[in-house]
Amino acid sequence: MELPLIPGRECGPCVECCRFIPLDLPELSKPTGKLCGYCVDGAGCSVHAVRPQTCRTWFCVWRVVELDEAWRPDLSGIIVRPDGLLTGQMTLYVVRRTDFLRSALLFDTVAQWLGEGLRMAISVPGPVGTLPVRAEVTEFLLPAVAAGDDVGFATLFERVLDSLDQHDFEPDGIEERYAVI
Ligand code: SF4
Ligand code: SF4
Repeated sequence: MELPLIPGRECGPCVECCRFIPLDLPELSKPTGKLCGYCVDGAGCSVHAVRPQTCRTWFCVWRVVELDEAWRPDLSGIIVRPDGLLTGQMTLYVVRRTDFLRSALLFDTVAQWLGEGLRMAISVPGPVGTLPVRAEVTEFLLPAVAAGDDVGFATLFERVLDSLDQHDFEPDGIEERYAVI
């Protein structure tokens, strides 16, 4: 998926998609939750010039939508999946629990998206090498958002995460293969 990027915005030290998004390509496959073998943690791709096409075109929403710096996935703990910009259902892939999950920034942005008619889902990774799980949460979160209840919203959000964490995660079946170089 190729979306126009925000000029001047870079991933910086964030490498969360290289860690939490599975790849199953002829030249590169790596399981969910395991940092790609070509990635230098905190620095980025060591095969940048010859990286697979998928890596060239996949960017999280923070790279394409004007969101605060605090939304950067390595800081917020949330990768906002880009497919939601096309489907109308935004998925917050919560890869780590951070203080950001109780922030006004998160509440205000979700309230804005719901106000624009977008739908919301929350996803979490399981143990390394298992498929993430995802839940549709629009109706669950709407009452707190409509009431402007940020504290209640944070409680509901946490409840979703607790529930998803109990999921019986299935293996993603991906075996590592590094053949880019
Ligand atoms: S998750 Fe987003 S900001 Fe982080 S490395 Fe991937 S595209 Fe860049
Ligand atoms: S090849 Fe590079 S961009 Fe692609 S997942 Fe690995 S480190 Fe990330």
